[in-house]
Amino acid sequence: MVLIKGGDLMEADFLIAQIKDKDALILAFGGGSVLDLVKYCATKCNQPYITLPSTLSNDAIYSSVSRLSDNGKKKSLGVQPPIGIMVDFDIIRKSPKELLLAGVADLVSNLSAIQDWKLAYNNIGESINELSFMLAKEAAIPMLNYSAKDLFSDEFLFDLTNGLITSGLSMMISGNTRGTSGSEHLISHAIDEFFPEKSTIHGLQVGWAHAYIEKHYRKNHEGINIESFFYRMGITETIQKHIGFSDDEFESLIPLAKKIRNRYTVFNTL
Ligand SMILES: [Zn+2]
Repeated sequence: MVLIKGGDLMEADFLIAQIKDKDALILAFGGGSVLDLVKYCATKCNQPYITLPSTLSNDAIYSSVSRLSDNGKKKSLGVQPPIGIMVDFDIIRKSPKELLLAGVADLVSNLSAIQDWKLAYNNIGESINELSFMLAKEAAIPMLNYSAKDLFSDEFLFDLTNGLITSGLSMMISGNTRGTSGSEHLISHAIDEFFPEKSTIHGLQVGWAHAYIEKHYRKNHEGINIESFFYRMGITETIQKHIGFSDDEFESLIPLAKKIRNRYTVFNTL
């Protein structure tokens, strides 16, 4: 057993030294930061691994991307997916409520990402992988049936787990993060990149940006009201507690968000 803090490339050499040249199956137990570091190191050593998340705060449990800090700045790194996932609801139920809400917000942000994907298809002819698109959407939709009182029920945790795994599948099928990461993720990444001292839980940053973008920039809502869902779920309140930016500051983040990666989103139409 190797104990790590996770989330930072600083520990990578240490962890790689423990696992390389061993005939072993690695079991990664912990939150997103721990899983992301194990994913990265297992990939570097070409070792199989299984994730055992201690919470469901983002789609790291089954994604082909690790978010890790390198000299204080977070980077997205491509990794091998796990060969399996074990989610013990008794453990998940003991994790902080705000992390589960962040997981919901990260999953539901697929509904923003796919709208950006569609926009890129319509405006600049970017191709859409339809299976990936559909998986990203169907992963998120069941969440909309829930409210705060369901947060620790088996049904809810099952749909959240399934949704996060299906999101990971969407990324693997398209070979990119188009279906799960749009303009709302660019804002979250811009906060991590340019205001690391103000950066907070990934899913909450994504949720904050998602709600703002839906309210101010999207013309076609497809009948989905994210603002009222977030309110019903207790996500609005949690976002207000954690996000260090006011809505008035949102627009000043857009030019920074556009620098993150070359991805056509609703920001290109403003
Ligand atoms: Zn995310």
